[in-house]
Amino acid sequence: MHRPLRIDILTLFPEIFEPVLGASITGRARKAGLVEWFTTDIRRYADNKHNKVDDRPFGGGPGMVMMCQPLWDCVRDVESQDERPATRVLLTPQGEPLTQSTAESLAASSERLLLIAGHYEGIDERVVEALEPREISVGDYVLSGGEIPAMLLIDSIVRLLPGALGHDESASEDSFALSGPGGSRLLDCPHYTRPREWQGRTVPEVLLAGDHQKVHDWRHQQMIERTRARRPDLLAGEQAGTEEHD
Ligand code: SAM
Repeated sequence: MHRPLRIDILTLFPEIFEPVLGASITGRARKAGLVEWFTTDIRRYADNKHNKVDDRPFGGGPGMVMMCQPLWDCVRDVESQDERPATRVLLTPQGEPLTQSTAESLAASSERLLLIAGHYEGIDERVVEALEPREISVGDYVLSGGEIPAMLLIDSIVRLLPGALGHDESASEDSFALSGPGGSRLLDCPHYTRPREWQGRTVPEVLLAGDHQKVHDWRHQQMIERTRARRPDLLAGEQAGTEEHD
């Protein structure tokens, strides 16, 4: 049987992952043997008596900087726990933006991921240079730590693993899947469920008539119209969404 994707998360706050990742689709995927994750507290690797992992920045200024040694030792130790080479990822607002295609390429190509969550002002640049991680950002805003970004990344990858979604759910029909003209990535169409009428609002007739081809065509048209109205940038170039992955 295929081994589960192994994800190691290096963090100063290991306790916050399980309540989120243990629920819903990621929790189900773990039960199904598709993925496993392990959190490691970087603080355990501090080689000073106060378990310090951060210090004041050279040159002055506010905030603290995560020191090289604890993170370096932590990465080396965690990587030695499994013979598979890990794709190292540092969550940072300065990284490449996380997109559906990033998630797709990591889901398709990784057997093992090692995610590093920073805190404070960030991490001493020298250990980043030494580790040479792939650097990924979850958006152009700054969060307090890399834990929530790591969970975003994990969720976006795990739902793409074959078998992670139930029979009735399909990642290929979600927003940003490769489904549009010229291989573009479209937003999803609107969805409706019972009752047929709610507060005077009705469901589009085409969805009630039972003609599968018409439903398919209507949905596709809605996807294109929504994308044109809300995210024209996705349709702007035929190449949108078809960029090369490493
Ligand atoms: N001083 C850093 C800067 O301006 O680039 C921000 C540090 S931030 C307060 C602390 C940590 O949160 C970062 O080391 C990173 O791990 C994480 N983080 C914050 N925003 C993020 C984002 N948009 N994407 C990924 N990680 C982020």
